[in-house]
Amino acid sequence: MDNQIAGCRIWITGIVQGVGFRPFIYNLAQQHRLTGWVKNTSAGVEIEVNGQAGLLDQFVQDIHDKHPHLARIDSLTRESVLPNGYAAFEIIHSTPLPGDFLPISPDIALCPDCERELFDPTNRRFHYPFINCTNCGPRFSIICDIPYDRPATTMAGFALCPECQREYEDPTNRRFHAQPIACPVCGPKVWLEQPGLPDIEGGDAIRAARSLMAEGKILAIKGLGGFHLACDAFNQAAVTTLRQRKKRIGKAFAVMAFSIEDIQTHCEIDPAESDLLTSPFAPIVLLKRKKWSTIAPAVYQKHSTLGVMLAYTPLHKLLLEPKSGFPSILVMTSGNLSDEPIAYQDEDCRTRLGKIADAYLMHNRPIQTRVDDSVSRIVNQKPYYLRRSRGYAPDPIILETPSAPMLATGTELKNTFTLAKGKYAFLSHYIGDLENYETYQSYTEGIKHFENLFKIKPEMIACDLHPDYLATQYAMERSQSDHLPIVKVQHHHAHLAACLADNHWNRPEPVIGIIFDGTGFGTDGTIWGGEILFGGYAKYIRRFHLRNTPLPGGNLAVRRPSRMALAHLWKAGISWGDMLPPTQDLCYEERLALRKQMELGFNSPDTSSMGRLFDAVSSLLGVCHQTTYEGQAAIELEAICDPEEAGRYELTIDQNTIDPAPLLTAIVRDWMAGIPVPRIATRFHNSIAYLCLDVSQRIKSESGLETIALSGGVWQNHFLLQKSMTLLDKAGFHVLIHQQTPPNDGSVSLGQVMVANHQNL
Ligand code: ZN
Ligand code: ZN
Ligand code: FE
Repeated sequence: MDNQIAGCRIWITGIVQGVGFRPFIYNLAQQHRLTGWVKNTSAGVEIEVNGQAGLLDQFVQDIHDKHPHLARIDSLTRESVLPNGYAAFEIIHSTPLPGDFLPISPDIALCPDCERELFDPTNRRFHYPFINCTNCGPRFSIICDIPYDRPATTMAGFALCPECQREYEDPTNRRFHAQPIACPVCGPKVWLEQPGLPDIEGGDAIRAARSLMAEGKILAIKGLGGFHLACDAFNQAAVTTLRQRKKRIGKAFAVMAFSIEDIQTHCEIDPAESDLLTSPFAPIVLLKRKKWSTIAPAVYQKHSTLGVMLAYTPLHKLLLEPKSGFPSILVMTSGNLSDEPIAYQDEDCRTRLGKIADAYLMHNRPIQTRVDDSVSRIVNQKPYYLRRSRGYAPDPIILETPSAPMLATGTELKNTFTLAKGKYAFLSHYIGDLENYETYQSYTEGIKHFENLFKIKPEMIACDLHPDYLATQYAMERSQSDHLPIVKVQHHHAHLAACLADNHWNRPEPVIGIIFDGTGFGTDGTIWGGEILFGGYAKYIRRFHLRNTPLPGGNLAVRRPSRMALAHLWKAGISWGDMLPPTQDLCYEERLALRKQMELGFNSPDTSSMGRLFDAVSSLLGVCHQTTYEGQAAIELEAICDPEEAGRYELTIDQNTIDPAPLLTAIVRDWMAGIPVPRIATRFHNSIAYLCLDVSQRIKSESGLETIALSGGVWQNHFLLQKSMTLLDKAGFHVLIHQQTPPNDGSVSLGQVMVANHQNL
């Protein structure tokens, strides 16, 4: 070994702050008898070490091999420097570097070590609802600025007690430099508020909250990224009351349990699902509900699945700690009234949730950024996300080709935005539907917050083609005020690009994009959504699309699938038989007006939407005529599918148009013949899966290409996804589905970034 003393400087980027990285480096340096220092910068972590040359190499190797499991190293640069004669190794203060940026850790679920301490009566944090360490706890939701140090978080107002201070400064302690460190002496506190009664504090507050829920009461509970509304998941009356007060009719509620064991009685859980539930991300996972589950039916309504998450903060663990007399599973739904954003400030809770909740369980750790629970399910043994937010945001999506500094403003519904620079695309947390002032405000504030946190000054703006989207209007304003070029990206092209970027696709040849979606503005002014595209990031051709059908009354037809069903029948030349369910749903005058409207083309824009075809079939079979949330008619249609049914119907393809008329004719015929509705629903799903195979084979025979990307909101349909993937795999196609981002509009802003970058080359 080389005994010469040498020096080196190391720069590391990636997720290296708030994950115990500096203590890890400190301990590693001690092991290798190195001297020098480590510090956080706004670009990552910087290290200088002196020691024997051989030990320096081993040190760098160990950084790669042994780093904390929550950390992620994106780059490590090393440079030799002259030894500086340091006497010891120390952790020195953070320095912001202008212009540089670094990823910020998402919020992390309670770790096993902290959970053990939480329930250890001899521990000084026994039953303390805000216990955390460098491996767990709040991060993104409490960060106000960078670098990530306590004064730049919402914990700034809590001065450390001597014992916490000692732990915070001890490099051998699990809480060394854990910024949200807290204990019962110096940290945040809980209390219970009930109208007309004095507040209850501490452990008594949690006990009282549990008693109230055992009695059937509804609570607003301040959590990590906002308020939840909670009640006993076994109490049908309580859940029904919650639905009425929250004005949420059809959509399923998620539930929260203490552990996997509590869910096993109610849902089927395979190992991949169990892994995801217990992961540090702790998302809501959609599980197959067991028939004999005693969960109140008002929780899941017409859904065959149940959305389940495990208690992911110490406060949630305490609310669900196994004890007789208290509910073991709680409904945990977002703390809002129908479509508003989640309440996350105390005052907000009192004013907005006052009419819904009987009591509030509050705490005084402020929330900087509202973060919704993420929603996922397991597809082919891997997570498939329907909403990517808490636990994931603001982790960047790593890009294969570097991006210009850019802001992509996303879509109207299920909005996210993306701020990109270099190889990082910071896909935002879930913002929601930009339909009211509050959501729009949290959107614009969120963009500013990201620009500041990640030190990105956009040099280009990307947005949707739709002129009426608030996100498009915001893009236009920013483009004008900041004098930035703007690129408008067709919605379904963005879907395709998002799926490709998500899969780190960097090959030059085009792919087949099967984009099945609800709504998106087309380049011809019609509403697209049943699109078979052929292309890549830079350009695409619209190779096939579903035949245009009128959307009578625009949004009204989206909320009333029976209107959509009759529109599809009308376009296909099928008569509105009196017996048919959608005919029955609409009165004579309505049908007359509907027909007139379509004949005159009055307020009946053309759409090729696949989502609307699902709506139409759902109503045609009498499953759903009216929706109270997006996708309801299709979700309820999927829920009755029978995996054993193999039948299917034909759609005809003429040049580039896919005509559903023969399919609709066959469905009406089967329905009239008394074939059970679940069988017809399944045959319909099978038909769309075979349609995917048919169009893919046609494009393959023209081009020889066989990579397929599946994107768009319709691909949240698990039955259709599984069926299509199986068929396409078997036929030898290479199928890309979303891996880290949702197939719905939640990933469109990522696609906008990709298209804008490639069109700008
Ligand atoms: Zn921990
Ligand atoms: Zn303390
Ligand atoms: Fe879409």
